[in-house]
Amino acid sequence: MAFFEDLGRTLSEIGQTAATKTKEMSDNIKTNNQINAEEKNINTLYTQIGSLYVSLHPNDYEPDFEKLITDLNNAKQRVELLKARSNTESNTGFCFCTNCGTKVSADAAFCPSCGTSLQAPAQQPAQEQTQPVQEQAQPAQEQAQPVQEQAPANTPE
Ligand SMILES: [Zn+2]
Repeated sequence: MAFFEDLGRTLSEIGQTAATKTKEMSDNIKTNNQINAEEKNINTLYTQIGSLYVSLHPNDYEPDFEKLITDLNNAKQRVELLKARSNTESNTGFCFCTNCGTKVSADAAFCPSCGTSLQAPAQQPAQEQTQPVQEQAQPAQEQAQPVQEQAPANTPE
């Protein structure tokens, strides 16, 4: 019976070890999360410190800041240029399909997405297109056989 007592004790120890391991792992995750949060906090503070320094010393910064501030100003200029270009692209040279709303080139005659005519008023073509679709649906069955009957139409009398 000593064997089973030993076995029971061993299993109990294994269980405790597993529980301890699990607790250690969750403690580890908590610690890592705290580290990440603090590092994020540090980065935010560095950003604020840098931003404050640049606003306090826009032109009289110390020489060590020369490259960083030059790079910063260049990046800001590129953003402004890109924003201006983005506005230009969205405001000129493009329009939106009156039928489906797709962004299309301003000089496009038809919407590449739905085929709506973009030069003429869009309301008339839209109505004309919906009716012929129904007319085509029925003759499709008749076309299979009458192919031979169409030939005599050309026959002179
Ligand atoms: Zn369209």
